[in-house]
Amino acid sequence: MNQEAIGRLFKANNIKNTKHRLNVYSYLLSCKQPVTADAIYLDLVRDSRNQENLNQSTVYRILDTFLKHQMIVKTTLGNDSRATFEIKHHEHRHHLICVSCNQITPISGCPLKGYEKMLSETSQFKILEHKLEIFGVCPKCQK
Ligand SMILES: [Zn+2]
Ligand SMILES: [Zn+2]
Repeated sequence: MNQEAIGRLFKANNIKNTKHRLNVYSYLLSCKQPVTADAIYLDLVRDSRNQENLNQSTVYRILDTFLKHQMIVKTTLGNDSRATFEIKHHEHRHHLICVSCNQITPISGCPLKGYEKMLSETSQFKILEHKLEIFGVCPKCQK
């Protein structure tokens, strides 16, 4: 996705295209796993092009805007300061989370599809979504 495509996405969501918004969104696109707001800020501010008037609260505000438009997904692990953000993919995803180093690894596929169907049949519930995070210790931390 290039800057022009991101600009179109902003327009489609009716949000103003600003340099900081563009940078935060591009940064999230480049991430292979969910990242915290602090990590986003620290990486962006290291880039000299961003230094002027980028501060942590700007990053938080931008993330809030993206969240409101459902362009990104927020996952809170325990307390809010460790919340992570990632681009909202159309595909539905689950994660493996290491309790020792907090590394988050997406899992492909969903093990609950059949269960959801059965549940909706037996409960007459129209199921909209589910969330599932799996906690454990990653191979690196087991050593
Ligand atoms: Zn680990
Ligand atoms: Zn699922």
